[in-house]
Amino acid sequence: MKRYYLKTMGCQMNEHDSEVIAGILASLGYEPTEELEEADFILYNTCSVRENPERKVYGHIAAFRKLKEAKPELVIGICGCMPQQKDELESILEKLPHVDLIFGTHNIHRLPELLERAQSGERVVEVWDEAQAGPGEDHRDGLPKVRKHNVKAFVNVIYGCTNFCSYCIVPYTRGKEHSRLPEMVRQEVQELTEAGFKEVTLLGQNVNAYGKDLGAEITFGTLLRELHEIPGLERIRFTTSHPRDMGEDLIRAMAELPKVCEHLHLPVQAGSNRILRRMNRGYTREYYLQLVNKVREAVPGISLTTDLIVGFPGETEADFEETLSLVEDVRFDSAFTFIFSPRKGTPAARMSDQVPEEVKKERIYRLIDLQNQISGEHMQKLLGQELEVLVEDVSSGGLVGRTRSNRQVHFAGDTCLIGQLTVVRITEASTFSLKGELA
Ligand code: SF4
Repeated sequence: MKRYYLKTMGCQMNEHDSEVIAGILASLGYEPTEELEEADFILYNTCSVRENPERKVYGHIAAFRKLKEAKPELVIGICGCMPQQKDELESILEKLPHVDLIFGTHNIHRLPELLERAQSGERVVEVWDEAQAGPGEDHRDGLPKVRKHNVKAFVNVIYGCTNFCSYCIVPYTRGKEHSRLPEMVRQEVQELTEAGFKEVTLLGQNVNAYGKDLGAEITFGTLLRELHEIPGLERIRFTTSHPRDMGEDLIRAMAELPKVCEHLHLPVQAGSNRILRRMNRGYTREYYLQLVNKVREAVPGISLTTDLIVGFPGETEADFEETLSLVEDVRFDSAFTFIFSPRKGTPAARMSDQVPEEVKKERIYRLIDLQNQISGEHMQKLLGQELEVLVEDVSSGGLVGRTRSNRQVHFAGDTCLIGQLTVVRITEASTFSLKGELA
């Protein structure tokens, strides 16, 4: 039995790509291992959104040289977003000579042939610039998957992004937007519910742009309505939404479809119009606030989360305070906060007025403090409430699941509840998670 060690870095798109990679390897007779020494194939599915994960890849894989010396037939591979960038690919080839196999985000389906060639001693490098699939098609369609969970599942609806935010590497590593045909998505969700899955999370860098490349009257809102009709499906989630493409039909679908959970992840990134313009986000602070009001009116009590970047080139103290005041105005349930990391090849990395590291650090702590305080206040309001929870797994002597607003809850209960919807009364609340008892 051959074994593989698969390390996944980055976003949910990468996590789901790793589920496909694991499915392909299982179909080739491989078993997963967490022990590097046991592996016949080591593969890193990489991320390029920030410098740190990239640096880690070089550090980790450089250390595998010894493993390779001890086991020459070992195959070491790199895939994901790093090799999709030409400079990074050259750097990998130069700095990591013991890497045998390199492929990208557009040709995962080629893994069986590429791995066989690497096992025969060839150094295999195959990175496609673009997905070579017709409209609505994608090479991942129909490929086997080993899913991480058996209650909830990721389902890709659109790949790539053409928004070209000035700090973002994704359009260069994942290519232009291409949507999957609705019938392919519906079939996948149908098969999942028949297999007992209760919840799906629809994935895309920008799901709101779904259908734009398919011509017909297909939008993300119409897709949600189609999937909503699938019997046995209990919950629908989706991520990520770009504010500029948040249409009325999507907001109406969220308000009218009971299976669509009351949680929206809507990255704003900054509070200053000057910085939003330099980021090429395509909306203003005022537009974003209006959109938030519209969504909250349509879906009362909705949980709103976001992404925020501090230290974008040229960000002044006044700009940063506009981010803080936007956070105070909107009062997000929670936020992913990032320090700006210049990505080679993006316009923002070439901007002259980079913010000093110590200023970035000082600002990120102020932002985190403010957001944690607000998140904590939101969580406290849930004390005593009885909330519907989809039970996902066992955890530290009890069970864990998520509310419709995507909050994690720990409580005592019998494992037969896993995969079921139940009601939990909240007895304890911290900034990031809840405790409760079965109601
Ligand atoms: S919307 Fe902007 S930040 Fe998001 S993936 Fe696309 S280019 Fe990147």
